[in-house]
Amino acid sequence: MYKCPHCKKAYCHSLWRRLVWPTQRPITCRHCGGESRLADKSLLIEALLAQVAAIPLLIVFFLVPWWAALLFAAVAIAGLALLMGAIFPLVPLEPFGSPADIRRAAIHFWVAAPIGIAVVVMVCIALIRALANAA
Ligand SMILES: [Zn+2]
Repeated sequence: MYKCPHCKKAYCHSLWRRLVWPTQRPITCRHCGGESRLADKSLLIEALLAQVAAIPLLIVFFLVPWWAALLFAAVAIAGLALLMGAIFPLVPLEPFGSPADIRRAAIHFWVAAPIGIAVVVMVCIALIRALANAA
């Protein structure tokens, strides 16, 4: 189902594991021990499609018996995961995180850095004022 990007031939990730395994966790190959992860594009497109698919799924729940709706939802979720797996293969795990991880970390840094600098400046001003008043 999901081929290992290291040894190429072994299927190291089943559909069941794909559905229950947290998407951000690395996948360890049972055959070669190589670590891989889901492709970023696959996760992004899957999240978008899940949003789009939620509307017809909600309508289906009102139109058919609950068990049929549940079955339909299960097939839709499994089908989406299978489709994404077929289009985007697993990618080898990078030692320093995926490009998306690095981009996210950079954004977090540039959001947090001005706040940190502002706090340091405020503390310095407060200290200088306290020293000036003490003198
Ligand atoms: Zn492998």
